[in-house]
Amino acid sequence: MSPHAVACAAWSAALAAALVFGGELKLELAVVATTLFVALVAHGVASIRSPFFGRARLRIARPDAFALTFDDGPDPQTTPVVLDLLRERGAQATFFVVGEKVRRFPELVRRIHEEGHALGNHSDRHSWAHNFRLAGGLRRDLVACQEAVEQAAGVAPRLFRPPVGLRNPATHRVSAELGLELVGWSIRSLDTTRRSAAEVSARVHAALEAGAIVLLHDGGRDSERTRAITTAILEQAERLVPPLRSVALGQDA
Ligand SMILES: [Zn+2]
Repeated sequence: MSPHAVACAAWSAALAAALVFGGELKLELAVVATTLFVALVAHGVASIRSPFFGRARLRIARPDAFALTFDDGPDPQTTPVVLDLLRERGAQATFFVVGEKVRRFPELVRRIHEEGHALGNHSDRHSWAHNFRLAGGLRRDLVACQEAVEQAAGVAPRLFRPPVGLRNPATHRVSAELGLELVGWSIRSLDTTRRSAAEVSARVHAALEAGAIVLLHDGGRDSERTRAITTAILEQAERLVPPLRSVALGQDA
């Protein structure tokens, strides 16, 4: 039984007990039980670390490596800059791509694959409504992205990162049905905020360790800023003892 199912059962039981045995306090007890349940659900939806709906992968099992991941691309300005940098440094990464951008820039997706990086599914449209979809809509969206990547690069992703890291009761089930492993992160760089490139890389540096999965973005971002942040992280990783290199997810077993 999943934590989600256990919590639903516990909430129903608490509600029934409050109404039957709560006496004068039955309404108050029912409100407390419901508030606790809603807080658990909200944490499960919003926190990629919560096991409430299922466990997302947050780390890699490597003592000598970490994993850079880039979301929201491919992007005609930023993705080539990131790929050039990774090639210069001999580093590998994982790109969680958006299906509609894959159809617009298939050559970038092909290049990502040909240069040895991993491709992950990051939904077809990256819509604000993504996490409101039930299983059928979720499945159609993920399949559309799978097909776009397969058409562009000749391989289908084995990884899925939900947009904004949000999940609902169907997210893990649909991912598993499509053979997709759900991937989160252990270090959120906050590169999409107004923080300077130096602040972002310092934040990553403070938490960087073997096995970390670092969340960055190449889609819709300033290419020079992304280049500066990524360069700083790779240099910091090389200076650690022992030095760490970035590997693509799937090459970390
Ligand atoms: Zn995203």
